[in-house]
Amino acid sequence: MKQFNLLINGNSISTTEHFDIINPANKSVVAQSPKANIEHLNDAVAAANAAFPKWSALTYQQRRDLLIKIADIIESNGDELMQLLTKEQGKPLKGFANLGSGFEFGGTLAWIRATASMELAPEVIQDNETARIELHRKPLGVIGSITPWNYPLLISIWHIIPALLTGNTVVLKPSEMTPLTVLRFGELIKDILPAGVLNIVSGDGSIGASMSSHQDIQKIVFTGSTATGKAIMKSASVNLKRLTLELGGNDAAIVLEDADIKAITPKIFATAFINNGQTCAALKRLYVHESVHDELCTALTSMAGNMKTGNGLVEDTDFGPLQNKKQFEIVNSLAEDARKNGANFLCGGEVIDDSGYFYPITLVNNIKDGTRLVDEEQFGPILPIIKFSNIEDAINSANRLSFGLGGSVWSTDIEKAQQIASRLECGTVWINNHAMIQPDAPFGGVKASGFGVEFGLDGLKEFTSIQTVQISKS
Ligand code: NAD
Repeated sequence: MKQFNLLINGNSISTTEHFDIINPANKSVVAQSPKANIEHLNDAVAAANAAFPKWSALTYQQRRDLLIKIADIIESNGDELMQLLTKEQGKPLKGFANLGSGFEFGGTLAWIRATASMELAPEVIQDNETARIELHRKPLGVIGSITPWNYPLLISIWHIIPALLTGNTVVLKPSEMTPLTVLRFGELIKDILPAGVLNIVSGDGSIGASMSSHQDIQKIVFTGSTATGKAIMKSASVNLKRLTLELGGNDAAIVLEDADIKAITPKIFATAFINNGQTCAALKRLYVHESVHDELCTALTSMAGNMKTGNGLVEDTDFGPLQNKKQFEIVNSLAEDARKNGANFLCGGEVIDDSGYFYPITLVNNIKDGTRLVDEEQFGPILPIIKFSNIEDAINSANRLSFGLGGSVWSTDIEKAQQIASRLECGTVWINNHAMIQPDAPFGGVKASGFGVEFGLDGLKEFTSIQTVQISKS
């Protein structure tokens, strides 16, 4: 079995303690992860601090060149990384609509290259006979990155590339459920970056908690649950850490009576079930006008009938298992609760193969707001479909929960859809699509889905502080 190590100060560091990483497709042990303790964390933060002056003094172009090399080296190790990702996370190598490990890996390369091409140039606020005033952006210092288990490699890249490009150094803690791909990534790139610029410590939430209260970490960028986001915010006050919090979501989609059902069905299906529903901005509640409700339910059910859930290493698998036992139990209990409350299961809803954490693609209608499956984030392959007759009711339903990550409106009347979209309380709103993101468009939540944005120049700014330079001329 391959050994995995921490990355601290440019060195591969083994630990005395380890924990098992479980393949959710068969519950076997994929490998053991090193378990960092507080000394490892302190060493990593000290190394990142020591590396900061030289790294931050490089030009954008010098840092960019190294980040592009990272993309190149991981691209040439793609097969190994994708296999490892499928084994520890569960997603198929290829999967439905090519949204499996290949998609995460391709997105990783695209994001590194696109983000590395960006730059925050100084801005001139004023230049006249009295004064020249410039706005400069400076790196913050050591960034702590804490990531979840749904897109282990891609989300790590979303955190570390903008942080490094803007001149910060990083200590990254991957999820204890899926650390292996990220640890292997660290091993592959360790000789590209100067020692200490990127450090990786794997461990459970207690290491994350120690990061958020660490005096020498200047900012935490966190993607994960709202509950953990709140805990991080509390302990971050110790040194007034800055925060970017990308938290949970329960995105609503509203399908209007004039929607082209044939055209939108594949998009609704793909964006609800992307990564088996384990996607922060997946479509999680589907509100459908009564005039097209039955037609859409039939079309979605027909698509679901063609899907194969199974081991992601098997070629024709569309969807893999849920990533872990806890998530599997959450999905089961939401389904049970919906059933008890009289919901109608159009398909799925029964666990057939329990050799892994397999849950079939499940569509549920005859369900109302207030039912757990509607109100709680399912983070799994089970979609509630709610019929509405009055658009005002649908808008109220979309906005009534504490979450505010994404939302969508589906219609052939773009102007009307835009008016409705503007009333949705969420960080991103899509028209005739959902869950689409790209490296140059800011993405982030409002309300209990967090604050701060990732991607684009606004995403880079999150890793900097402003220094205003006033040159007096009189
Ligand atoms: P989680 O909050 O349980 O864990 C995320 C990370 O936080 C892990 O690395 C974990 O070890 C660490 N952690 C746990 N307790 C901590 C503490 N007290 N202090 C600091 N760190 C701690 O989330 P998860 O179960 O891994 O991920 C699923 C959740 O993430 C879902 O709610 C999903 O919506 C959300 N998510 C959001 C986005 C987004 O961009 N908004 C993206 C992906 C996932």
